[in-house]
Amino acid sequence: MGRYTEPLGFSTLFPFCGLPLRVDPYRDCGFSCSYCFAHARESTEGTPQVQAADAGLLTRYFRRVFDEQRTDLSIVTKCIRQRIPLQLGAMGDPFQPAEQRHRVTLSYLRATLAYEYPIVINTRGTLVAESPYLEILKAHRHAVVRMSLSTTEDARSSLIEQQLVRPSSVLRTMERVSAAGVRVACRWQPFVPGVSEEPETFASRVAATGCRQCSFEFLRLPRERRPQLIAGFYKATGENIYRHYRALEARHQVREYILPPEERIPMILRARRAIRAEACALAQLITTCSISPTTPAAAAV
Ligand code: SF4
Repeated sequence: MGRYTEPLGFSTLFPFCGLPLRVDPYRDCGFSCSYCFAHARESTEGTPQVQAADAGLLTRYFRRVFDEQRTDLSIVTKCIRQRIPLQLGAMGDPFQPAEQRHRVTLSYLRATLAYEYPIVINTRGTLVAESPYLEILKAHRHAVVRMSLSTTEDARSSLIEQQLVRPSSVLRTMERVSAAGVRVACRWQPFVPGVSEEPETFASRVAATGCRQCSFEFLRLPRERRPQLIAGFYKATGENIYRHYRALEARHQVREYILPPEERIPMILRARRAIRAEACALAQLITTCSISPTTPAAAAV
């Protein structure tokens, strides 16, 4: 298998994303979540085609931009020069099984530490709490570890995430990383209606780990049929998820179906209340809710 040649660039969700600059140590993802839009784009379900990127790329890039002060007209270079935060792992999990062998994530973390470059790490992997990653993160003043969960309950997770690290392990990892003094956020992604639990339950469990921020994103249903997701949703609700989304007049956006704002907003508001209620206890929990800014109803949230 060849090398991943485009690890540094912009997210295809550029218009909707607050962190569009991304670096991906791997193309595709060995965790193979049934709903993953990135995985759906890169391969067919169950057969991830994981490619590792060049481990030295980020160090060379930083050296050229910061040490040698080289200038070019690339928009990526301009963003790096301004230290726009990098999203580490936008198209595949940086702590997926391939990291044990290739260590590209380790190399990218060392580069951002050396150049004090701000990063937001997206992961579900427990490896983030292991050595030497945790030591690097403890020393990194500009890193946030953002751990993704669709649910906090193992039984619900097993319906749609057969090959994934269980939520109980993710919650323990969040605790370990937070206890080490590293900033930890939670990405409730995706919220799967009919499968994920009530927001109040989710928020209190996540807050108990020491997490200080939580975002909330509805399931973007991949256009490509996902048999595992269909089966899990059917088991939980007795319905076909594609028919369910169609009945609710889900819209086609990029390569996914998204529910219309009127279906999402009541749950987004409820999740926001639940997360803010935990903020009273934690004082520092911040709420963000993901909703397309192009929809008129977004202004109401
Ligand atoms: S861990 Fe993330 S990138 Fe990997 S398959 Fe799951 S949702 Fe996709």
